[in-house]
Amino acid sequence: MFWDQEIETLPRPELEQLQLKRLRKTVRKVASETVFYRQKFAETGFKPSAIKSLADLRRLPFTTSADLRANYPDGLLIKGGHDLIRLHTSSGTTGKPKALFFSRKDIDQAAENIARCLTMTGLGKQDILQNMMTYGLFTGALMVHYGAEKLGLMVIPSGPGNSEKQLLLMQDFRTTAIHLTPSYALYFADFIEKRGVDPRKDLALRKAYIGAEPYTEETRRKIEAALGVEVYNCYGLSEMNGPGVAFECDAKQGMHVWEDNYLMEIIDPQTGEPVPDGQTGELVLTSLCREAMPILRYRTRDITAIIPGPCPCGRTHRRLQRITGRSDDMLIVRGANVYPQQIERILMSIPGLGRNYLICLEGLDEMIVKVELSDASFDGQVEHLVKLQSQITEKLRAEILVRPKVELVMPGSLPASEGKAKRVIDKRIL
Ligand code: AMP
Ligand code: ZN
Repeated sequence: MFWDQEIETLPRPELEQLQLKRLRKTVRKVASETVFYRQKFAETGFKPSAIKSLADLRRLPFTTSADLRANYPDGLLIKGGHDLIRLHTSSGTTGKPKALFFSRKDIDQAAENIARCLTMTGLGKQDILQNMMTYGLFTGALMVHYGAEKLGLMVIPSGPGNSEKQLLLMQDFRTTAIHLTPSYALYFADFIEKRGVDPRKDLALRKAYIGAEPYTEETRRKIEAALGVEVYNCYGLSEMNGPGVAFECDAKQGMHVWEDNYLMEIIDPQTGEPVPDGQTGELVLTSLCREAMPILRYRTRDITAIIPGPCPCGRTHRRLQRITGRSDDMLIVRGANVYPQQIERILMSIPGLGRNYLICLEGLDEMIVKVELSDASFDGQVEHLVKLQSQITEKLRAEILVRPKVELVMPGSLPASEGKAKRVIDKRIL
């Protein structure tokens, strides 16, 4: 199913022509109408007339999240010529937030992209979407809300948390689709299991849109099994309108990036040089349709790869692999490079474990992986637990090349998360 078949299946040469036209317009505009890009172009000697083909994108300087913070609040804003109707911020971990402005056209376009995304997974007017993402300064919930309304289905703006009430809404209004973070989905799966709710019999759920933080294929399968839904991976970031930048279609083989809206590049995060299609690196995005606050060559820090070749669904917009983490997520433990996602993948594949875990780094350089047992495996038999513990330790060691200390903890004893989960606590004295 298509929302806008013509644009979603536009032949590549035409799509690329459209991209070039939009890129040139965007570059000219930011050069003359933003304080930040005017200065940056002057410093780097870049001239907008240098963009003659899409390959010339590489002549443009990168924009980083530090640039957004340093030019807070409005250094990247186009001065005038549009109605500003929304502000979002993205806080990250330190310092000033990033301020993101949206014009009426920008909000409309973001909603349009979400309508495309939901339609391509088979959602339609008859569906009821319970939006369990955080409403507020974070773009996650509001953009999906507007897109779903544009599509014309009923949205329940429940926000995250209060699982009791979520379940009641699902039962009373026959919710067919949900939008939430993977960590809350795992928590909610536990919650309904404890209530003795069988989602296949007692609920009308069909689809779950899961994003806002990295998760693994194993986690997808766990959520699908526990909630009786098809899980679709959705990716976005506030700097690029929030969710709806890339989304899985019904084939569930990678996430289509709406290339009429965004130019994507994959670069080596160390050198900044492009890597060939299919190879892993950092995603860099350029907005092509944003009116109030275009951003050029934005270093997302997200690690992924472009999937070469066409998708069975017929869309011509290329796909990204599941995000495996952020380049700034990488932990260095006793000299080895470790991504939290590697640990999650192992934990989610071992039967007998619950759905919550925490990675603690302590002392001189010690890694402790705390993982909840499932209710079923918490049978009080010590030999059983010792065996499970050594099995996990061995599997983790083989994957990350460091031997962590594994602690099995009681079901429900680790902090539960409703929004973005905090999976790593680093208290090392290095
Ligand atoms: P925010 O700007 O607060 O919406 O956060 C955006 C960031 O969330 C992205 O840069 C990614 O690091 C992360 N993110 C969002 N969606 C996904 C996803 N589906 N998989 C992995 N990471 C994601
Ligand atoms: Zn597809």
